[in-house]
Amino acid sequence: MAEREIRHHGICTWQPASACEGCPLSGRLKCRFDWGALLHFIALFFGFAIPAIIGAIQGGYGWYLLGWAAYSLIFFELWEGRILCSHCPYYAEDGRVLHCIANYGLFKVWRFHPEPMSKAEKAQLWVGLSILMGFPFPFLLLGRQFAWALVSLWGAGLFFWTLRRYTCSQCVNFSCPLNTVPQELVDEYLRRNPVMGKAWGKAV
Ligand code: SF4
Ligand code: SF4
Repeated sequence: MAEREIRHHGICTWQPASACEGCPLSGRLKCRFDWGALLHFIALFFGFAIPAIIGAIQGGYGWYLLGWAAYSLIFFELWEGRILCSHCPYYAEDGRVLHCIANYGLFKVWRFHPEPMSKAEKAQLWVGLSILMGFPFPFLLLGRQFAWALVSLWGAGLFFWTLRRYTCSQCVNFSCPLNTVPQELVDEYLRRNPVMGKAWGKAV
């Protein structure tokens, strides 16, 4: 029993599905990996990124997209991985590859941090996301690709609106500044996951 609890830091998200039977949170949180949720996230992000890529290439700034790709790699793998994802129950899975409903397949550089994000990490997340989402726009404007800039801006707005409404309201990374899960559901998840509950100062 003790050995089983240590696996995946004892986080219920990574226990066999049979452990979810009778759980009051079942169906109310995105607490189990789901391909549909992952594809939804990817499709939404592409709705922003593809118009930006097309516009940058048509405007003659295609090579600058390599800088965007390099930043994205560093951001997702290292920066966001530490300040956001390392606090997420999905990051608690044993092994070095992340299997989650957004950044699926990334290499896990960091250890799992069950405590909530700090204020400094939340501030960094806004800075990092602003750079990520804002990167292509100067090149779209310099290349006079105003229509593609507008489509991409619309895609970015739709991405955040849909994400916040349908994903952040059920996401298990509760300390993310975008998270809107009701407190009673957060408390129940923390109660079911003592390693997190203790790190959040809520262990009984
Ligand atoms: S909170 Fe944990 S036990 Fe409950 S349904 Fe989600 S993964 Fe299963
Ligand atoms: S669900 Fe979100 S916060 Fe959690 S590991 Fe995936 S990308 Fe990071």
